Amino acid sequence: MRILVVEDEPRMADLLRRALTEEGYSIDVAGDGPEAVWAATERSYAAIVLDIMLPGYDGIEVCRRLRDAECWSPIIMLTARDEIPDRVRGLDAGADDYLAKPFSFDELAARIRSLVRRGATPRPRILAVGDLRLDPAKRLAWRGAALLTLTPRELALLELLMRHPGEVLTRTRIIHHVWDPLYDGLSNVVDQYVGYLRRKIDDPRQPSMIETVRGAGYRLVEAPDKGAP
Ligand code: CA
Repeated sequence: MRILVVEDEPRMADLLRRALTEEGYSIDVAGDGPEAVWAATERSYAAIVLDIMLPGYDGIEVCRRLRDAECWSPIIMLTARDEIPDRVRGLDAGADDYLAKPFSFDELAARIRSLVRRGATPRPRILAVGDLRLDPAKRLAWRGAALLTLTPRELALLELLMRHPGEVLTRTRIIHHVWDPLYDGLSNVVDQYVGYLRRKIDDPRQPSMIETVRGAGYRLVEAPDKGAP
């Protein structure tokens, strides 16, 4: 299986190449934005590891151009740890996941395995789960016909849940994506925000679309189990 690594720093590119080769992948390396777009539209990759800071144009622009060209290879973006707005922009541009530098290669390999398993998925411009809809570019969400009034943090949490419908997301993963990998505040912040979100998205007469999975985390479901609390 072939993976494209897009990284301009030779040392980092080499580390990535060696680590991923050991995982059994064949690796191509692109060193700038235009080269990355050319390579990824020229052949199909099982996954693309994309650094944000690149010469030519940056990783976000690469991502946008690939999605516009209907190249749906799963993309994991590498960001510096203090570039939270970049992560949000990256996901808006069509990246599937991101990892903050510095990261462990084990973590990267695990994320790539999961992306490769999922495979290339054409991405609708509007996310939809049941009668929930979310437009990542316009930062708007609806339940049925009703526009939801969400804070940026609530919207980011809902977007993460909607990008993984039916999948249990741990509190750690949610904090990593919606807050910061180094967030050291109270861990119950996730529970608190899930509470805010439920009050805004749920029909109070129905079970919540956001299920609590005891000891594991949260899961967004299209048709909530009527027996669930
Ligand atoms: Ca770079």
